[in-house]
Parts: sequence; C-alpha cells; structure tokens
Amino acid sequence: MATLAEVLARETREGELYERLPDGRLRCEACGHRCPLPEGAVGVCKVRFNEGGRLMVPWGYVGGVQCDPIEKKPFFHAHPGALAYSFGMLGCDLHCAYCQNWVTSQALRDPRAVVPPVDASPDALVEDAVRQGARVLVSTYNEPLITSEWAVAIFKAAKAAGLSTGYVSNGNGTPRVLEYLRPWIDLYKVDLKSFDDRHYRELGGRIEPILDTIRRLHAMDVWLEIVTLLIPGFNDSQDELMRLTEFIASVSPDIPWHVTAFHGDYKMQEPADTTPEMLLNAASIGRANGLRYVYAGNLPGQVGTLEDTRCASCGETLIARYGYLVRDYRIDAEGRCPSCLTRVPGRWSPSFDGQIASRPFVPHSGRLTLSRL
Ligand code: SF4
Repeated sequence: MATLAEVLARETREGELYERLPDGRLRCEACGHRCPLPEGAVGVCKVRFNEGGRLMVPWGYVGGVQCDPIEKKPFFHAHPGALAYSFGMLGCDLHCAYCQNWVTSQALRDPRAVVPPVDASPDALVEDAVRQGARVLVSTYNEPLITSEWAVAIFKAAKAAGLSTGYVSNGNGTPRVLEYLRPWIDLYKVDLKSFDDRHYRELGGRIEPILDTIRRLHAMDVWLEIVTLLIPGFNDSQDELMRLTEFIASVSPDIPWHVTAFHGDYKMQEPADTTPEMLLNAASIGRANGLRYVYAGNLPGQVGTLEDTRCASCGETLIARYGYLVRDYRIDAEGRCPSCLTRVPGRWSPSFDGQIASRPFVPHSGRLTLSRL
C-alpha cells in the first residue's frame, strides 16, 4: 500500500514559484525558507520537490473542507457574519509543538497525523461554496503559502463566482509569492507567534520574513488582521508584548490585533491555559501602544468588551459578539460608525444579512467529488 508521501507525490504538477539554478538545482520561492533543492530533494514543507530540474507542487486535492463563521478565522473587519468556505491542504513549513491543526499540518512529519487527501477541482470547490451560501473562500488549517499555485487556481474560480478570498497563514512569505497572490487575494490573517527570533527558530522559522510579509501585505492593501496566541512563559512577557504591538502599530494602528488564549494541544500540554486576566493585560499593552482595534479571543464572555468592535473615535459599540456569534451590528452601508460617521477600516458588505452559522459545520458536499485518493 502506498504511503501518504507517495500518494501526494503523484498529486502534483509543475509549479511557478521557483527559479532554476545551475546543475539541475532550483530554489523554491513559495515561503521564507526559500529551499535550495538539488535533483530529487524535498523541501522543508515535505510537499514540494525537485523532479528532473522542475519544481513539483501539490495539485488537485484538499485535506478537507469545512464551513466556518468568518469570525473563527478570525476576521472581525471583513464581511461580519459571512460564511467562510474553508479548505485545508497537508503539510507545513513550521513545526509548532502547540499546533491546533497538527493532524493536517504535520501529516507528512508525524505518523500519528493521518488524513487521507480528497480529490477536488477548483470548479467543484467553488460550486460547493456557493451552494452553502459562502461569501468568502479561505485556504486555512495548514500553511497555505506552500500550496499557493493550487490556491490561486481555486481563487480565480472563486473570484469569477463573485466570492472574496483569503489566507489564514503563518506569514512566512517571500516578496515573490505575495506578488503572485496579489491579484487574487482579498483577506490575509497572519499568525504573529512571537517577537523573538529565538522563539521562531524553535518553531522552525525566522521572524524577519514574517515581519516583511506584514509590511508588504499592508502596503499592497490586502486586508490584514494579526493574531497572537498568548502562551504563558513563551511569548507573554511585558517586553515582548511591548515590542510586538509597537511593531504592528508602526505598520498601521488600524490593523486589528487578536490576542487569543492558549490551551494545551499536540506536543505542548503545558503550561497552564491562558487566563482572561492575561488576555486583558496583553490587550491593554496593545492599546497603550496605539492599536485601535484589539480583540481577545478563545474565551467567550470572559473578556468584557474585547470581543466587540468599537468606534475608534466616539467609542460606540459597532459590532457586539459572543464568540463567533454576531449579536448586534450597527456599521452603516458605507462602512462607518452611525453616530459620528467615522470610517471603520475593513471590508464591509453593504448590509448585515445575518449569519448562516455561528459554529463550524462540515458541508454535505453535493457535487464535490469526495473520492479519497
Ligand atoms: S514552500 Fe517553503 S518549505 Fe516548501 S519547498 Fe518551498 S521554500 Fe521550502
């Protein structure tokens, strides 16, 4: 019986995000590792490889699909209440010990992570998304940058159908992959895991490509929100949170920052879970450093008003939330506060049409071909 790596190696085509080097070598440009790959070598992500001097990349499958409220991604300033049709692939360019999606992200590194891929086409995915009532189509659950050629093929079909598109990503990009995505992507969530390069090296990366990605996405006018999972003893020192939030504010104080609660997962069952007080402290540091839209996540109902969107000018509550549930919506058709008419940064639909779901669900996939590869 073929291994997962052998199955996935067949589900490939030649990629676009690479440069040829002498002697059959090549350099992949899809993520910040920029792996140099001699003939036959596989990248750090385990899903892109050099075959005969050509870079072969994942194509024609998904690890799974799910319909999420867009608040789960989280995007709080993009089409609130929308259904985000979410597909995941397999593999990752980092190896975070606390990964909450390790079954898909570590599928090619950890023998306990067993997720058979599902045959899919861009049209079938988009038809299914439209049938479910989705407004947005998102590549998520594993690291989308490493399958960007496939994501763009899907996003082209999504845009033709009138959907918005997005990445939920660790942000370990390159200038080339961001330019490649630019015409086809509307929303981008970056997981800024730490502000310490040593911590990033523990996770298998470096901080600089992530900071560069944040700066570039903002300059490109892709709608950007940033999440930091607050892990006690790892990234929650006052000094680190000061530097992290100063950096975000230096790019733009209008970038929403979500500080979210850790709970034990995968190989990191300790330390103890993040408390509401820890989130409130981190949020106050972010606000003191000038961030206008700071949210506390993963502890619904325990963080005061930090689940809500408030007008940065007059303080009016514009969107009230409980977890993923939108309880009240008051932003006007032009994306402004109805009281003082201050514009709220984001991507707003003309009106709030309610939520199809405030909890994730797995769609009955209709015509999406669900044959396991
Ligand atoms: S996506 Fe990143 S990890 Fe994978 S081969 Fe390319 S540069 Fe290496």
